[in-house]
Amino acid sequence: MDKKLLKELEEKLEKQKEELEKHLSRFASKDQEMKGDWDTKYPKMAPGATGSQALEEAADEVEAYSNMLPVEHNMELRLKDVELALGKMKKGNYGICENCKKEMDEERLKVYPEARFCLDCDKKK
Ligand SMILES: [Zn+2]
Repeated sequence: MDKKLLKELEEKLEKQKEELEKHLSRFASKDQEMKGDWDTKYPKMAPGATGSQALEEAADEVEAYSNMLPVEHNMELRLKDVELALGKMKKGNYGICENCKKEMDEERLKVYPEARFCLDCDKKK
C-alpha cells in the first residue's frame, strides 16, 4: 500500500479512536482491570431523594440508560476495530482481509479504515 495513503488512514484512525474514547468516557468509565472494556455508569438515585418525583426521575434515568446500551456497545465494538487496525499498521499487515488474506480495496479503506474484511467476505457474513 502507498505510504502516503497509509499515513492518511493512520491519522484518520487515531482521530476516530480519540472521538470514540471521548464519547465513551462521557457515559462510561473505563474498566481498570479489563483493558479496552467499558462499564456504563448505572444511574444512582440522588442521595436523600424521596417521594414519587424522585422515583420518576430515577425511572427516567434507567430508561435513558437502557436506550444508551446499544449505542455504547456499538461504539465499543468500533473502538476495538479501530485499535485493531492501528495495531495491524504497526505490525505492517494492515489492509489484509482477515478471512481470505487478500489485500483490501484502497477505496474501501478510505471510507472504512477499520475494516477487517474485504467487501466480498463482508457480504458473505
Ligand atoms: Zn476477504
